[in-house]
Amino acid sequence: MPNGLSSEEQLRYSRHLLIPGVGVVGQLRLKHASVLLIGCGGLGSPAALYLAAAGVGRLGLVDADVVDVSNLQRQILHGESWIGQPKLASAVARLREVNPHVKVECHPVRFTPDNALEIAASYDILLDGSDNFATRFLTNDTAFFLKKPLIHAAIQRFDGQVAVFAPHLGGPCYRCLLPDMPAAGAVPSCAEAGVLGVLPGIIGSLQALEAIKLIVGLGSIPLGQLTVYDALGSAFRTLNLRRDPECRLCGERPQIHHVANAQTTASDHCSLTSNIMESITVTELHALLTDNYQGLLIDVREPDEHALANIPQARLIPLATLPEHLASLPRDRQIHIHCKLGGRSARAVNFLLENGFTRVSNVSGGMDAWLEQGW
Ligand SMILES: [Zn+2]
Repeated sequence: MPNGLSSEEQLRYSRHLLIPGVGVVGQLRLKHASVLLIGCGGLGSPAALYLAAAGVGRLGLVDADVVDVSNLQRQILHGESWIGQPKLASAVARLREVNPHVKVECHPVRFTPDNALEIAASYDILLDGSDNFATRFLTNDTAFFLKKPLIHAAIQRFDGQVAVFAPHLGGPCYRCLLPDMPAAGAVPSCAEAGVLGVLPGIIGSLQALEAIKLIVGLGSIPLGQLTVYDALGSAFRTLNLRRDPECRLCGERPQIHHVANAQTTASDHCSLTSNIMESITVTELHALLTDNYQGLLIDVREPDEHALANIPQARLIPLATLPEHLASLPRDRQIHIHCKLGGRSARAVNFLLENGFTRVSNVSGGMDAWLEQGW
């Protein structure tokens, strides 16, 4: 192995070796790299498969679940013959088949504050393939304290998002984007909301791509960017994320000093969109607006989103600026809040409720649901 790759490896990775910027040096970086995947489900499946195929030398897998038939619609690591077996057993068998050069290490446990640092410490990059807020916050905090890049993703129905958080290299952390754990019941579970099976395939592959870019040193690290994929609109959008100086983890006056349990009972909830707090449908909102509307409709999206499409009666108050407008909002009238899908508006509703407003409701499905009606 004069260049560090066996002849079999040179053949296996020949399409990588041809790429300027990858080559033997890049392939050796992959060979000597390690990635910890938290979750071997919808996102972790494509991520693990592509990272193994690419020749990432050491993959750690954290998952305590067994394969269920309802997983097979999207969790492509697993197959029919593994139903009822641990996901990690299924994953190891599949990944070994894809690339026997890759060392796969199994952590058949739940990722908890008690084991997170110990499990993650020996890996270069953390890849979050979890489906709940508690693990997402825990993964973020673990990556922050260990100064390791975190490849974040979340999916629901037709929408997905990816970001690389690495405050030690610059840019925000996940808590800058979402400071607090949503209240239990504020967000529907994946089982309630559903997800198109191919979507985690796309988003998990993007996570693998960002990991490979980081390892090889290709392109730019998208610090401070959230890539949002809208499958129905066939569009990717990039949102700029700012580091929050008030962030309790990476801000100027941090209040979180160690990895701990984010207090919630919402552990089985997805991260995107909508809520089951007090809410109205777009049809109900439409009826209210055409009938001498007495309430206040607030659009908490960004100005560029508002410019593309809006409900004329809505007052634009981007979510981040809501605190400055508190004093000007009526407490004696019904307030309806919408955004694109219902996620940001749910946060806005929670924020107003926390600040003593009582007549606040969320517009389910947001602008997307409104536009679907063609009004
Ligand atoms: Zn932060």
